[in-house]
Amino acid sequence: MNCLSAPERAETISQIQKEEYDILIIGGGITGAGILLDATTRGLKALLVEKNDFASGTSSKSTKLIHGGLRYLKQLDLALVREVGRERAVLYRNAPHLVVPERMLLPLIIGGSFSKLMSRIGLTIYDIFASVKPGEKKKMLSKQETLSLESGLNEDILLGGALYSEYRTDDSRLTLEVIKTACNLGGVALNYTAFTEFNYEKEHVNGISAVDTMSGNRLQLKGRQVINAAGPWVDEIRENDGALGAKKLHHTKGVHIVVPKNKLPIHQSIYFDAGEGRMIFTIPRGGTTYIGTTDTNYSGDLNTIRVSKEDVNYLIAGVKKMFPGSDLSEGDIISSFAGIRPLIHQEGKAPGEISRRDEIFVTESRLLSIAGGKLTGYRKMAKKVTDMAMERLVNEFSYKRIACQTRFVVLEGGDIDDMGVLKVDLAQSLSQLGVSEDRIAYLAHTYGSQAFKILADCSGEDKDIALAVAEVKYAIRCESMQTLPDFFIRRTGRLFFDPLSIEKLMKPVAEVAAVQLKWNEERMDKEIQSVKQALEDIVHFE
Ligand code: FAD
Repeated sequence: MNCLSAPERAETISQIQKEEYDILIIGGGITGAGILLDATTRGLKALLVEKNDFASGTSSKSTKLIHGGLRYLKQLDLALVREVGRERAVLYRNAPHLVVPERMLLPLIIGGSFSKLMSRIGLTIYDIFASVKPGEKKKMLSKQETLSLESGLNEDILLGGALYSEYRTDDSRLTLEVIKTACNLGGVALNYTAFTEFNYEKEHVNGISAVDTMSGNRLQLKGRQVINAAGPWVDEIRENDGALGAKKLHHTKGVHIVVPKNKLPIHQSIYFDAGEGRMIFTIPRGGTTYIGTTDTNYSGDLNTIRVSKEDVNYLIAGVKKMFPGSDLSEGDIISSFAGIRPLIHQEGKAPGEISRRDEIFVTESRLLSIAGGKLTGYRKMAKKVTDMAMERLVNEFSYKRIACQTRFVVLEGGDIDDMGVLKVDLAQSLSQLGVSEDRIAYLAHTYGSQAFKILADCSGEDKDIALAVAEVKYAIRCESMQTLPDFFIRRTGRLFFDPLSIEKLMKPVAEVAAVQLKWNEERMDKEIQSVKQALEDIVHFE
């Protein structure tokens, strides 16, 4: 059974209803994905169900950084800085295509969050505690040196700057690769399968009822240990298991806007003061720069998160404060994305002050729920909750205890000795195929070593179309792509970072998908309409 082959979905669904799983996970964001991989590599039989597409929740809407824990330094949580820094090194080793070193420029300004002295001391501590490599350690800069890196910065308020080490990633690809790695090792993951209610035996949860949202069919799924990893929806799922405990989630909304690179032509990522103690990132990606994020309380619909004019104005005002020559306006925005932080509520704290630590809730019914945390700490979160699940399996069902194995598990596409060599090899293949070399970075960082499998399927007159067609075939065969938005948003990132390319690619991609997924004309039109709607939504601000 290849559970990530979309054409084999019916077979997978029929098979999983016959099985009893050791671990059954609700939620296919990075948290659920990490648990699936952890459980599978311990030799446990594990199943993950996701109500929408994998990574369609917060795990495709983050700032896409694998942090070294600088914000925890401000809170003097040195243990957490050390833990996050070590974790970052593990992720870099296991997924070098997806976890990429990035020098972050921190401009120091009059009245800013960081003084020169505090930055020097703080970043030195950060380098030590976050195990920063020798070549990537912090560098303090004079005002002139800072301006020579970014001439558009506000000279009137600039005191100097610092360069420090961060890593960037692609959150939805990271989630997908974790899931793919788990499934190649025997785990099972099913998107478009929504939890509806718990099933019990002697008051203990022993499975779930779910619905296949593609067909509407109801499913009964058995799992000895059920884990709720539904991110912002964790409380909604907990409510199905009786009353919530004393601790609840606190939702805050975070928005990013994306502009063409020439509208904010920065040379590296920058982390700067936006006023009132808030900081903003501006990060170059392909032909764009993305800007974020906001952090505001959220009590609206978790399934439809809108970007408001207020969010946009806040980000643009922050940019203009730091880049006074910028004429950036709402009309320049080519896309935007908004996500919900599933934080643990702390009475009396403002959104920016609430801890980003994770927490596990255990109930009498033996349901485990995990929330909070960061993309960066997903492997450790997964270890923590799977350790608890393992303990129960050992004590109540006499399983043999097996420790976490994921520290050395290389993610799909990450079997690369040297990213430089991969890019040279890709350049050679691209020139043989006649595909423009500006796709090198995209292919290398989207697929890693898997890029060659896609290129092997790449043929046709128009090279942009040929590449997209090869990608969609791969996404259907190996990444459980079920809809056109799955492809343009989470498999390739085109909706957010290259929306102008979609018009040309939409029809040829839809035609291939229609053949492979047996769509009739009506379904194909519906899919095309939903991409068109998404293209409107990303530039519609209320
Ligand atoms: P989600 O990704 O939301 O996954 C939960 C999944 O559960 C969803 O896909 C949902 O569809 C599914 N689900 C819900 N109900 C059901 C059901 N009934 N049945 C089946 N499935 C269900 N972290 C970093 O480390 N670095 C960053 O740069 C960073 N930036 C951020 C910026 C913003 C604006 C935000 C909001 C967060 C950021 N984070 C960052 C935090 C990080 O993105 C989150 O901690 C992480 O993505 C949460 O993942 P998750 O799997 O817990 O939740």
